[in-house]
Amino acid sequence: MTKTQEIINQTEKYGAPNYHPLPIVIAEAEGVWVKDPEGNKFMDMLSAYSAVNQGHRHPKIIQALKDQADRVTLTSRAFHNDMLAPWYEMICKVSGKEMALPMNTGAEAVETAVKAARRWAYNVKGVEENKAEIIACEGNFHGRTMTAVSLSSDPEYRKGFGPMLPGINIVPYGDLDALKNAITPNTAAFLIEPIQGEAGIIIPPPGFMKAARELCRENNVLFIADEIQAGLGRTGKMFACVWEDVDPDMYILGKALGGGVFPISCVVADHEILGVFNPGSHGSTFGGNPLACAVSIASIEVLQDEKLADRSQELGEYFMNQLKEISHPSIKEVRGRGLFIGMELNEAARPYCEELKELGLLCKETHDTVIRFAPPLVISKEDLDWALERIRKVFTK
Ligand code: PLP
Repeated sequence: MTKTQEIINQTEKYGAPNYHPLPIVIAEAEGVWVKDPEGNKFMDMLSAYSAVNQGHRHPKIIQALKDQADRVTLTSRAFHNDMLAPWYEMICKVSGKEMALPMNTGAEAVETAVKAARRWAYNVKGVEENKAEIIACEGNFHGRTMTAVSLSSDPEYRKGFGPMLPGINIVPYGDLDALKNAITPNTAAFLIEPIQGEAGIIIPPPGFMKAARELCRENNVLFIADEIQAGLGRTGKMFACVWEDVDPDMYILGKALGGGVFPISCVVADHEILGVFNPGSHGSTFGGNPLACAVSIASIEVLQDEKLADRSQELGEYFMNQLKEISHPSIKEVRGRGLFIGMELNEAARPYCEELKELGLLCKETHDTVIRFAPPLVISKEDLDWALERIRKVFTK
């Protein structure tokens, strides 16, 4: 039995069956390339759902991890640590917001955003206690905790986990009239992914984001952008909202914030919003730990120094144009921004992903019929051409 098979068997025997991975085991990784235990090489076209925008094991990020591991890794927030303060300042400057609140995973940051929005509604907007409402979008993905699945419109994510969190309204993604009708005096926030990643790289209709942002401003409703997947360079801009010339009240960030090396997430917003928290109202043992902060500072520096957003825009345009030229009856649409591209098929995408894997290219289907192409942003044009050769091959039959 191969080592790969042994590991898959062990995983299936002892692991809760909450994932359905492609049958490949990754044992090593560098840049855009990964290797299985047998030494076979594959190109990573998923980037751990955009957590590895900076490429696997970026040397500068790994160095920051090692240096920090040699000093101090965890203090809890009972004490200050000397990496959190510079991280605060950096993420505020990058996002143009006054304050940040660090957590660990994306879903925790979403929880934080919802708590902040509710408290802001009571303390600042004057909504009656326990009446605050959050508006979310059909097809959203905000994570797997109870708040996140309560926000979801996907029965698969919710089935068997009730009761759900109350005070949530769902409107069709990109439908301004529906949003208008859903806003009440009790609405605390409108929560939106500027591009829906898990739903299959869905971009709202032109002008929607800007109009929705204005509508929220007029109604004293917070406009919260979940950029956990689309943010930090992925779409060709530092934030996907920039494409729409929208400045949200709050960004939710995660994934690439830790360069694929160490988990860190956060919300960033102005003082009027995040100032609603007081000591004891929210927190996390690991949130803001010095190891995560050191890694995150290096991860943001890499995004900036290597101009990875620009790179994503330039290479994304090239890659998407090439993908659009592939003509095959199964291809329904190719869409995206930067190196955040979805190829929607008229049939199941999984067999194509399995075939691409056999050719050395790792992609994962999302929502059954979409292949997501989201390589690390450090990818070269030559590597993209290598990928295109394989993609063309599976679509020539
Ligand atoms: N929000 C968005 C837009 C995401 O894409 C994800 C993860 O895919 C999450 C939230 C949840 O993040 P995590 O898996 O780190 O909890």
